[in-house]
Amino acid sequence: MSNTFERLGLPERLVSTLARQGFTSPFPVQMATIPDSLAGRDIQGRAPTGSGKTLAFGLPVLSLVSRAKTKRPRGLILAPTRELAEQIRRDLAPLAAAVDRRIAAIFGGVPYGPQKKDLNRGVDILVATPGRLEDLIEQRCLELSSVDIVVVDEADRMSDMGFLPAVRRILSLTNPDRQTLLFSATLDGDVAVLARESQRDPVRVESGPTGEQDLDVEHRFWRVARSDRLAHTAAVIRDSQRTIVFTRTRRGADRLVKQLEKSDVSAVAMHGGRSQNQRTRALRAFGNGKASALVATDVAARGIHVEDIDVVLHYDLANDHKDYIHRSGRTARAGAGGTVITFVLDGQEKDARSIQRAIEIDSPLERANRPEVHLSPRRDSGHGSERPARSISKKRDVSRTAGKPSLSIFVGNLPWRITDRMLENLFAGHGQVSRASIVTHGRTGRSKGFGFVEMDADEAKTAITALDGSVLDGRSLRVRVAR
Ligand code: ADP
Ligand code: MG
Repeated sequence: MSNTFERLGLPERLVSTLARQGFTSPFPVQMATIPDSLAGRDIQGRAPTGSGKTLAFGLPVLSLVSRAKTKRPRGLILAPTRELAEQIRRDLAPLAAAVDRRIAAIFGGVPYGPQKKDLNRGVDILVATPGRLEDLIEQRCLELSSVDIVVVDEADRMSDMGFLPAVRRILSLTNPDRQTLLFSATLDGDVAVLARESQRDPVRVESGPTGEQDLDVEHRFWRVARSDRLAHTAAVIRDSQRTIVFTRTRRGADRLVKQLEKSDVSAVAMHGGRSQNQRTRALRAFGNGKASALVATDVAARGIHVEDIDVVLHYDLANDHKDYIHRSGRTARAGAGGTVITFVLDGQEKDARSIQRAIEIDSPLERANRPEVHLSPRRDSGHGSERPARSISKKRDVSRTAGKPSLSIFVGNLPWRITDRMLENLFAGHGQVSRASIVTHGRTGRSKGFGFVEMDADEAKTAITALDGSVLDGRSLRVRVAR
C-alpha cells in the first residue's frame, strides 16, 4: 500500500488510531497538504465539502502542538458555526486522546460555565467560533499569545457571515510567528485578501475542478408549480433515505415541516431562530432516523455534518452559486453518491441557469419527475425513452467463466436499502458475478451508497454499458470500471 497516513509523516499513535476508526488511506486533500503542514508551512486549501478537510488540518495540528498552560491554548481552530465547531471537536477528540492532547470547543448559545472550566484546566487545541471566542477573551478567560498554529476553516463562509473582521482581530492576538492553515470551498474575494494578510509564503492546494461538486453527485433541476412543491417534496423524502431540504427563510422552514407532518412525513427544522437545545434535538432525531428529513436554512446548515445524506432538495432556489455549492455539499460525502434536486418555479429559469453556468453544470430544466419506487433496473428515462424492467434474479452458470480475467466494477449512487445480494442479482443478468459488496460506513454500518462487483472482464463491459444510468429506486446508477 503506497497511500497510507504513515507515509505522510504522521506519528504512529495517530496512524493506529485512524486505522482503528477505519481510516487507512488519506483523501487527496490530505495527501496534498499534510506533509507541508507538518513541515511548518502555511497552507491555503481549496477543496469541496466532504473532501476530508477536517483531518487535513486536524492531524498536523495534533502532531505539532505542545502542551498548553492554563488559559493559554497552543493551537486554535476557527469555525463559522457552533455545529461545525462541535463537529470538528468530536471528529478530533479520539485522535487528541491518542497523542495525549486536550481539545475543547467554545461557541455561543450555551452557558459559559463548562467552557470556562475547560479553559482553566488547560486546553491544548481550542476549536472556536469567533463571537464566543472574543467574548471569552474580553472576560479574560483566555489569552492567545501562545497560539502558534491557527486553522481558519470554511473561510468563505466566515466571510459570507461577516466574521472576517473578528477573525482578523483574533489572528492579531496570536503569536506573530504562528503557522496558519486556511481552508475554504472557494479561495477568491475576501478570502484571498485574508490569506494575503495572514499568511507567509503559503502552499496553495486546489482539489477538484473550480467550484464543481463531487463527480458522483447528480444535479437535477425540476420545473414545478408553486402549488405542487409540497407534494413533490413529500414524494422525494419518501423515496429517499435521508433528505435535507433547504428553504430561504426560517418561517418557510417551520411552515414546510408542519405541512410535511400533515402528509405523514416526519421532518425537523434547523435554523437560526431555534435554541441550541432545539437544534441538538433536531439533529439527533434526524441522525437516528426518527425524522426522515431535515428542513434547514442556509446559515443553519452550514458545516453540520450528518452522514449518508442521499438527497439535497433546494425547495427555494439558492441565492447564488456559492450557496448552491454549500447546500449541495451536504450530499455525496466521502465518495458516496447523491442527488441534488432544485425546484425551479415560473420566472426562476434565469436564476437557475446562472447558477448552472457559474458551476459549469448543464442539467436540463426538466418536468418534475416522481422517483421510481421499485427495485427494477431500467434504462434511464432522462430523454423520455424507457425500456421495460429486466428481471434481476437471473443467474448464470457458475462454471462457464472460471479462469477468465475478471474486472472490478464500481457502482455508485445506489439506493440505501440495497444489499450485497441485491447488487449481485443486478449484475447476474449479465454474467457470472464472483463478488458483490456494498461499502458500508465503519461506525454506523450504514451503506455508503456505493459498492464493487467483480466479474468476467468481457461480461463486465457489457454489464457496465447496460447498467450505467439505469434507474433504481429513482436513482440513476453510476457504473464504471473501478480504479
Ligand atoms: P470537509 O470538511 O472537507 O467537508 P470532512 O472533513 O467533514 O469534509 O470529511 C467528510 C467525511 O469523510 C467524514 O465522514 C470523514 O470521516 C470522512 N473521511 C475523511 N477522511 C477520510 C479518509 N482518509 N478515509 C475515509 N474517510 C474519510
Ligand atoms: Mg469541514
